Amino acid sequence: MITKRTMLLGLGGLICVPGAKPARGALPPIPMQRHEQAMRLAIEQGRKNAYYPYGAVIVKAATGEPVAAGVNDARANPTLHGEIVCMNDYVKKHGNRDWEEMILYTTCEPCPMCMAALLWARIGGVVFASSAFSPALRSSVGDPIKLSAKEVIDAAPFHKPMLLGGVLEAETDQMFLNRKQY
Ligand SMILES: [Zn+2]
Repeated sequence: MITKRTMLLGLGGLICVPGAKPARGALPPIPMQRHEQAMRLAIEQGRKNAYYPYGAVIVKAATGEPVAAGVNDARANPTLHGEIVCMNDYVKKHGNRDWEEMILYTTCEPCPMCMAALLWARIGGVVFASSAFSPALRSSVGDPIKLSAKEVIDAAPFHKPMLLGGVLEAETDQMFLNRKQY
């Protein structure tokens, strides 16, 4: 379910609410069911790291076909957030191309580092589950950098991807609350 924290954004952004007007942007309208299907794949990735269940997948916007995946590996390298691992997997498999036709799904709202990387790539869309600022995450992983994904996008003049939050967030909030602690 989508909650009040759900956000829709973007120049000609993708409208995902059933019955809403069709999108004017580059991405086709996508039914919520397909967003949830892709988010389940991101959750599967997240479950591979019991301590930091930040998982991500990249899918083709047109078909929903998953083309890359990743999970947080920041214990090995502080830059290896799930989104970055997933982006690296994408480039390795498909080259540095066609980003605007892709959507990244992630179990948690991208931090400023990851959101900036996604902007530099000019990704077509970003969909997240838990908000970085939800009380569930705060009690589990602590305070994040106080800059939302939307604020990072608003600050970038060169690219405006579709942004949607809150997809399956009840599930991911639980996953973060139940994560293993060192
Ligand atoms: Zn990050």
